[in-house]
Amino acid sequence: MFDLLKKAEEFKMSRRSFIGWSSAIAATAAVPVARGLVAKAEENSNSESSSNEEIWKSAACWHNCGGRCVNKVLVKDGVVVRQKTDDTHPDSPDYPQQRGCIRGRSQRQQVFGADRLKYPMKRKNWAPGGGNKELRGKDQWVRISWDEALDIVSSEISRISKKYGNEAIWATGAGEISKVMAVNGGCTTDYGTTSWGAWKDASTMMGMAEGWIDVGINDRLDLRNSQLIVLWGENPAWSSPGSPTYNFLQAKKAGARFISIDPKYTDSAQVLEAEWVPVRPGTDHALALAMMYTLLDEDNSATNSLIDWDFLNRYTVGFDQDHMPQGADPKDNFKDYLLGTYDHMPKTPEWAAEICGVQPEKIRDLARQVGSTNRVALLTGWGPARINDGEGWVQAFSTLGLMTGQLGRPGQMTGVSCHRAAGNGGPWLVKGGMAGLPTPKNPVKNSINHNEIFTAVLDGKYLQKGEGEKQANIQLIYHQNNATLQTRGAIKKGIEAHRKVEFVVSHAYVLNTNAKYSDVVLPVTTEWEREGGMLEGNREIFIVYTKIVDPLYEAKSDSLIAEELMKKLGKDPKELYPFDEKQAFFNKLATSTVIAASGTGYEPLVTITDQDIKEWKVQGKPQQGRIMLKEFLEKGVYQVERKPGDNFGHIAYKKFIDDPTGSPLKTKSGKFEIYCSTINEASKGLWTEISPIPKYTAKTKGYEDTFADWESKKKGKYPFQVYNPHYLRRSHSTFDNVPWLREAWPNPVYINKSDAKLKGIKDGDTVLLSSEFGKTLRPASLTETLMPGVIALPHGAWVEMDEKEEVDKAGADNMLTGPIPTGLGTSGWNTAICDMEKWEGEPLEADDKWKQRVLF
Ligand code: SF4
Repeated sequence: MFDLLKKAEEFKMSRRSFIGWSSAIAATAAVPVARGLVAKAEENSNSESSSNEEIWKSAACWHNCGGRCVNKVLVKDGVVVRQKTDDTHPDSPDYPQQRGCIRGRSQRQQVFGADRLKYPMKRKNWAPGGGNKELRGKDQWVRISWDEALDIVSSEISRISKKYGNEAIWATGAGEISKVMAVNGGCTTDYGTTSWGAWKDASTMMGMAEGWIDVGINDRLDLRNSQLIVLWGENPAWSSPGSPTYNFLQAKKAGARFISIDPKYTDSAQVLEAEWVPVRPGTDHALALAMMYTLLDEDNSATNSLIDWDFLNRYTVGFDQDHMPQGADPKDNFKDYLLGTYDHMPKTPEWAAEICGVQPEKIRDLARQVGSTNRVALLTGWGPARINDGEGWVQAFSTLGLMTGQLGRPGQMTGVSCHRAAGNGGPWLVKGGMAGLPTPKNPVKNSINHNEIFTAVLDGKYLQKGEGEKQANIQLIYHQNNATLQTRGAIKKGIEAHRKVEFVVSHAYVLNTNAKYSDVVLPVTTEWEREGGMLEGNREIFIVYTKIVDPLYEAKSDSLIAEELMKKLGKDPKELYPFDEKQAFFNKLATSTVIAASGTGYEPLVTITDQDIKEWKVQGKPQQGRIMLKEFLEKGVYQVERKPGDNFGHIAYKKFIDDPTGSPLKTKSGKFEIYCSTINEASKGLWTEISPIPKYTAKTKGYEDTFADWESKKKGKYPFQVYNPHYLRRSHSTFDNVPWLREAWPNPVYINKSDAKLKGIKDGDTVLLSSEFGKTLRPASLTETLMPGVIALPHGAWVEMDEKEEVDKAGADNMLTGPIPTGLGTSGWNTAICDMEKWEGEPLEADDKWKQRVLF
């Protein structure tokens, strides 16, 4: 095994060439799909080796990233020596290659990194019941055998469930261990709005799509019909590299102009030459209301038509007192709220400017641009909705689209454009199949909102949806595949919670934040060491990947660990795994489907022969599909070829727009609900009550909270807003350990020059950011392309605590965010406030120079 890794090191791409390449991308506005780096189709040798010893294999880039790209590795003599991306067909705007970004191209640095965990291990000072629990995160690690590790884990599960009940076990996220827990008496779970923010629940209640399961925008070819594209808090160049930015470029070439409304002038805005409208985080809601006020104020159906009254009348309820749903007070209509008829507070641009920071004339100009352009794409990422009390923003953004009738027609769309569906909406044209493994039900019903989970561990109570306050006594935390401690609010509190319970165990392939604060760590394989699998990408593709190398060191897959744990717990592993991983992979392939050529209905994707079944040594039947099994595995992708006017286009909500009576929406009224009693009722008894119409409320830890006194504008203890944009170095928190990516993207904190000047901070100075929830350090990057008063701290850096100073040195964004449940339980990461000052201690060394977390 050591020889294998040594060989990999000898073959690796030179660091200099990688960094140079990465910097070139940065210089071209970080368009990750650098089309200049042409991958020629004729070079695609697939599995044909250029010598007898070399073979290209389809490898996974498996992270929760909005891009989803083809990733190939050249394996020579059992060692990965090169990587490349999509060259399976010639590149064209209608049928683009699915090219990877710098993260995917550095994937082998992650799989073969020196910091891979090699063996099962336990904390030196661990003992049944926890031992010295305060040492979690600081203790030394001791190598143990798999047998001992599984003995410890199973006996702690049994001991704790016997002593406190299965409710005392919290399995974070959802994965193989959730299934083991389900057949072993159950466990407490957690839930939240994760990436969606307030879109997750509020949108569907009012008839809009949430943007993941149901994508409410038109497809990418129709995007070219839009005349104006508003990217409201959307930066695909960083958050969803891969193909989305390229698709937006095609819309630009077709004549669309762009507006970017964002706290920061993003790389997407730069490459699309968008007009930038800086806005304060969490105040988009006020801006949207003032735009709608302007539309109402200036609309004249004869001379200056800005509002689509016919659309409002036919397809919505709640806009004015004549269109209220049954049972609602007519005075509660949205129009009168905008005009301030009853609350005596018209939502004018002047009113909004004080909150959102956009000048009144600019607000009017934005409203006029949206209202007077025929075909507008009003697109937003989930980021602006990842705020406390964020449901009102979802309602307001949607209402702006409804008021201007920008839905359901070519070139017209309003909705979430994010992650795998950025700029490309519609039902999936290729669908992955199912493994066919049992999914047992968890008998424990306790489920704790992400915003309350660490508080629940520490204080012993939480709010159970539908039941009210409930007691909790969590004593065992089982981290399976979710970066829970890193990516929930209030990491400091999370660390305290981890130091309170009796046992913490993690599955991990490197010492990430979950693993670091555990008692026992079980080394898992990466996807490159597994039998293979499938990954959903944008609607036109499905990615397939194969096994690249055997499991490194003593790593095992999550399902193998689950099987062995079942045995230790006295259960039959066949209950969960009636067949092996290869059969599970085969089943997925065999049940995958692709849209029929007519555009209606689906048919099998993969052609499987008797010979395939024999070679794979699996159970199955031959079938006729669209692509031969071997070809699919070699290519690593199946992509539906698109062209304008084909049968695969998508106009969101078209059925409803064409026939509102025959194809009603799934809302109480069957229409879009600007007045939505469902949202209001759902919020009662939870954390904060949501109005049925998009009423503005000051957001908890939002801009208004930066003031000690709003009237006199006297700033408070935490005078800055801080938000956490996605960053090209990482996919959420994944890849943060890769040294080359650290060097290419050094993870500074972005500060406006004027704010820095006031605080005496210079470019490159180490800055201390502090909130009521924690403290973190980062080198300053001063800029004029950031809203003054706002600090941008990139999302996902792995916390690195200086225990003595109680300060994190890595710039972990969630050191500053709070555990604050609001509304329907939305996670409000982008509503946080802080102070900053020049750090008087030792200046930070660039983190690519930091020692890797190499154990044993
Ligand atoms: S990290 Fe995302 S965008 Fe980059 S190569 Fe992987 S899947 Fe593509």
